[in-house]
Amino acid sequence: MSNPITSIKLVLLGEAAVGKSSIVLRFVSNDFSENKEPTIGAAFLTQRVNINDHTVKFEIWDTAGQERFASLAPMYYRNAQAALVVYDVTKPQSFIKARHWVKELHEQASKNIIIALVGNKIDILEDNENERKVAREEAEKLAEEEGLLFFETSAKTGTNISEVFLGIGEKIPLKG
Ligand code: GDP
Repeated sequence: MSNPITSIKLVLLGEAAVGKSSIVLRFVSNDFSENKEPTIGAAFLTQRVNINDHTVKFEIWDTAGQERFASLAPMYYRNAQAALVVYDVTKPQSFIKARHWVKELHEQASKNIIIALVGNKIDILEDNENERKVAREEAEKLAEEEGLLFFETSAKTGTNISEVFLGIGEKIPLKG
């Protein structure tokens, strides 16, 4: 018998260039590119994973980070069951932006949306820890206060990428 399938609508939010598209590319194709074209508007991809004898189909909306597209975001998060709010651990401004997204999701998205706060590009810290501009503790504190999952990732090396999606999948009530 085939596994029951649960679909999860997931949206990525975060400042431009924090690595949203790269996280999706790593998760969907196990690939990485140094010079990715920016996403215009939004991109849609799907990926299936097995969790506890269930097939979970992620329906992923990767939104553009540019300010001129910000007004489109509600269209994507309004009926999403999960959101990744992504920042770049080397860019403090991107963490401020992440705080805003979390606030907006709590005000405007579905009450039971599952949110993962994702600090990307930790591979850069392996060469030089001084590049870290967002303390892990600060992000953990936000996650705890706001009830978020929290991961530090690298789309470049793949660190923690599948863990983000599995962590979300495990929080979603599965069918069957
Ligand atoms: P988006 O605008 O948030 O979708 O960001 P992109 O996925 O387009 O990535 C922006 C830039 O950051 C690209 O040059 C990527 O190659 C690079 N990038 C993305 N993720 C990582 C990462 O984990 N580590 C490093 N070192 N660079 C990354």
